[in-house]
Amino acid sequence: MILTVKSKSRTELIDITSDIQSAVRSSGIAEGLCMIYVPHTTAAVTINESADPSVKADILMILNEIVPWKAKYRHLEGNSPAHVKSTLVGASELIAIENGQLVLGTWQGIFFCEFDGPRTRKVHLKIMK
Ligand code: ZN
Repeated sequence: MILTVKSKSRTELIDITSDIQSAVRSSGIAEGLCMIYVPHTTAAVTINESADPSVKADILMILNEIVPWKAKYRHLEGNSPAHVKSTLVGASELIAIENGQLVLGTWQGIFFCEFDGPRTRKVHLKIMK
């Protein structure tokens, strides 16, 4: 199954936890695994705190500091920082399903990470027993 995510900023963390939980619920699978995969080279997916929105702001602030917008990049498309951030954060997550629910900690949420927006993106889900 494929989710569509629309980003509004150049860099942005978008909480997709409830969309993925809905997909797990409609799959009818009570015990299994949910693989989340982002098929983009300038985006990523991560799990982190969703309770306090300052956390995602801090993550973006530090990623923007450690991966400068301007450097001696060779890639002519001009979006090398986005490619580097995508690799640092990663393209997939694997989460256990128990009792029809994603096994996430109290404060954890799943974030689609946009690094070269705004764009319309895809998130692939594989929900399996
Ligand atoms: Zn590029």
